[in-house]
Amino acid sequence: MRNTNKVPFTPLLKRHKFIFDLLKNSTDAYLYCTDVKTRTTMISPNIVRDFDFPAEVVTNLNDYWLPLVHPHDRPAYSAMINSILEKHTVHEFALEYRLKTKKGDYVWIRGRGRLGLSRDGEPELFAGIITRMAGRNQADEVTGLLNKYRFEHGLRMALRTSGITGEGGAIIFVGLDNFKFVNETANRIVGDEFLRRVAAIIENILPPMLTLYKMDGDVFAVIYPEANETVVGEFFNDLQRSLAQPIEISGRPYFCTASAGTVFYPDSGKDYLILQKYAEAALDMAKKGGKNNNCLFNKEVYNRWLRSIALRDSLFESVESNCAGFELYFQPQVNAKNQELVGAEALLRWFNAKGKMVAPMEIIPTLEETKLILPVGKWIFEEAVKVCRKWRRINENFKVSVNMSYDQVKDSSFREYVINCLNRWQVPPEAVVLELTESRIVADWHFVNREFDEFRRLGIKIAMDDFGTGYSSLAMLKNLSCDIVKIDRAFVREIEISDFDLLLVKYAVDLCHRKGMRTCIEGVEEESAYRLLADKVGADYIQGYLFGRPEAVGSFEEKFLR
Ligand code: C2E
Ligand code: MG
Ligand code: MG
Repeated sequence: MRNTNKVPFTPLLKRHKFIFDLLKNSTDAYLYCTDVKTRTTMISPNIVRDFDFPAEVVTNLNDYWLPLVHPHDRPAYSAMINSILEKHTVHEFALEYRLKTKKGDYVWIRGRGRLGLSRDGEPELFAGIITRMAGRNQADEVTGLLNKYRFEHGLRMALRTSGITGEGGAIIFVGLDNFKFVNETANRIVGDEFLRRVAAIIENILPPMLTLYKMDGDVFAVIYPEANETVVGEFFNDLQRSLAQPIEISGRPYFCTASAGTVFYPDSGKDYLILQKYAEAALDMAKKGGKNNNCLFNKEVYNRWLRSIALRDSLFESVESNCAGFELYFQPQVNAKNQELVGAEALLRWFNAKGKMVAPMEIIPTLEETKLILPVGKWIFEEAVKVCRKWRRINENFKVSVNMSYDQVKDSSFREYVINCLNRWQVPPEAVVLELTESRIVADWHFVNREFDEFRRLGIKIAMDDFGTGYSSLAMLKNLSCDIVKIDRAFVREIEISDFDLLLVKYAVDLCHRKGMRTCIEGVEEESAYRLLADKVGADYIQGYLFGRPEAVGSFEEKFLR
């Protein structure tokens, strides 16, 4: 119970009061001095001022102190105090933890103390000093967690301990997969709250003695002594399970998955900077590998990461030299009924310095990640329009389809550029189809539809790409307003052997037709599949190897435009 009566100084404290007063008047730090036998403590007046304390002398200090300690830090704090005051097994301590101020926010403090023994060896006085860790340099402003500098410090300490004991452990970096969409669909205040909630979720999963750090952006870090693959695996499973629940902020649910990168020390390294880089690389590879998974660092992972970094650098160089190395290939699209050529899809290719072609699946994610897709996307559009102009002289109704990433939809200058380009090259808007490739991650239908309507008002057609690959395909069909739905190869691959798949494609096509949309089926390789699609399914357009592979401009002309 809290003792609210005025507590007198004990004789022992009285004896030390003179020097305590001298000290407390000469420092900004918080001071305390406990008479161990009576559990009476004198504290400096700044503790009374900044935290919720009744007087400068209290009994059972911990009745006041413990409730102020952050819940996650309580077990470590209690264990420490217990071993000093109850068990006397430890005579000295230093601990960093969070303490709630009178205002209700947590501040990081560093507590130190020493147990003084009497002449006959009995614990007599327990005295120490508490300092606030200089705010900005130590704690993350949003979550209140210790920041990357403290992480570095913590890692150096862990490595030093490991050097002595021979025991290793794991460093785990956790990054949120879709955090930018929380920020985009709501606002930064919701985003900040989201980070705080995720921090609480991770702290809840972690064993109480472990510290969670907040690195840059949406990345959290943990130093997990003695953890092996199983322990890390369980931690990540728990995290996935917890994040499967929506995080509700102001009555609205938000979802986010997390990726993790794990590196074991000292097996993978003994230097804190190197280990940190390895953990970052592993996290990056977890994201590149499809997100929502934990990537364990090893040399092979690292080499792949180095290659991806090299690719990024070369792509930057290419873009800086006017998109040298990029080229557009074109794949024919035909009318499903009579197999006549209606147009082509422009597909990006990139040739590295050695002249080797790199597939779009490898470069597009990097272009999107680096936002290079914005300048490259403009280049692609202009090239496609130039080619379209040329080919419309041979086939006057020829249409070109150009892929467009979600970032381009959001880039307000892209539409201006499109209009300008069509004017410059004298190509009518109805000759162009824009395909939205990343539709799976579109978070804000209203915004996307508004942007699409602007394009459609100009006369440009909009296609939704890769229908059937995302988990929210039907929702997309319901929400997105577009002219053409492109049904992915994955959806039609088995229509010849599975009646169900055939029915599914047929219903999808029917549904589109009822909404006034056309359909284009992708990835048709066999004549027999084509027959089913044309006769039974009633698709409008077909694009697939059966009618032609993506070709460079010259060979497209030779093969399809003579
Ligand atoms: P996508 O837009 O769905 O393009 C169709 C992909 O399917 C192309 O792969 C094409 O070569 C392939 N394909 C077409 N018919 C068949 C077939 O019968 N069988 C098989 N196995 N494959 C077929 P590609 O060129 O590798 O492009 C992959 C993806 O990269 C594209 O999928 C698109 O999402 C993206 N992409 C390509 N070019 C661009 C671009 O200029 N901008 C953007 N943002 N993304 C692009
Ligand atoms: Mg496409
Ligand atoms: Mg597609």
